[in-house]
Amino acid sequence: MKRISSELKDAKTIAIGGHVRPDGDCVCSVMALYRYLKKELPEARIDAYLETPPAVFRVLPGIENIKSEFDNKETYDIFFALDCNEERLGEARPLFDRARRRINIDHHISNTGCGDVNVVEPERSSTSELLYELMEPELVDEEIAKAVYIGIAHDTGVFRYSNTSVRTMEIAANLLKFGFDFSGLIEKTFYEKTYVQTQITGRAILESIRFMNNKCIVSVVTRRMMDFYQVGPKDLDGIVNQLQGVKGVECAIFMYEIGTLSYKVSMRSNGLVDVAGVAVKFGGGGHLRAAGCTMNGTCHDNINNLSREIASQLKKAQEQV
Ligand code: 5GP
Ligand code: MN
Repeated sequence: MKRISSELKDAKTIAIGGHVRPDGDCVCSVMALYRYLKKELPEARIDAYLETPPAVFRVLPGIENIKSEFDNKETYDIFFALDCNEERLGEARPLFDRARRRINIDHHISNTGCGDVNVVEPERSSTSELLYELMEPELVDEEIAKAVYIGIAHDTGVFRYSNTSVRTMEIAANLLKFGFDFSGLIEKTFYEKTYVQTQITGRAILESIRFMNNKCIVSVVTRRMMDFYQVGPKDLDGIVNQLQGVKGVECAIFMYEIGTLSYKVSMRSNGLVDVAGVAVKFGGGGHLRAAGCTMNGTCHDNINNLSREIASQLKKAQEQV
């Protein structure tokens, strides 16, 4: 597929979905495509499905149109699965399975493509960046530009991670020409944290433990801690990145309890460890330097199991030098 437009012939109903626990890139790519399709096909019905996005994304006008609770048995002409494969679509999965034509746009290296049409480019900073490349430039307006910009900014840690390319910066420059308040949007959606978010981040850092010659760092947030600070999973974003920033650390692991003996795991690598490879072994996925999975068992067992994979990768990396 060269352009989204070439895929839309005769489509009267189109659905868009992203992954469970949607992050900035996921929310923004869904919103950008939603607005874009509404513009390109004003007569068609366009529906966007996502778990309720974090509140900070209310800066995107129209986000209230995203459907988070639904009982829709419709067969759509097209379903766009963004920033994930079919397994992570959550409740929208049956709509994807049933759609007449399924299009998958993603940048996760662990995704082998789940649609009739697949645009999966792991070298792209973000799904938002990839989506922009597939849009007709003359249809991009200020609101679409804003969404694409915020999506790219979130997945690149505000143009800081190694997934930021020359092309990423060229696209960002094109988007800034629309004149929106990029600085305020980044502050509000990326950096600003509530007091309790800051408190639980502090607690997680304080209780972190280094191991494997200080090359790994881990922190665990329990249900009890989340209840105490009155926070939910959406409030824990960014903790793993803080752990990753500790000098000497090659791999950071953060996990929070999602149920009895069940943990959501986030991993970050500073280069030597392929955390997507580690996550895939435990049924998850992601990117070389940022990945995740869900693990069952005590947190100690989970840490042991992850450590074994990480240690073997570190050993291989050391043998190569
Ligand atoms: P995070 O640690 O920020 O939740 O996720 C890091 C990256 O890994 C993101 O690109 C995210 O989409 C991906 N990821 C996190 N958890 C999972 C998972 O359980 N399965 C898959 N396939 N990808 C995940
Ligand atoms: Mn992404």
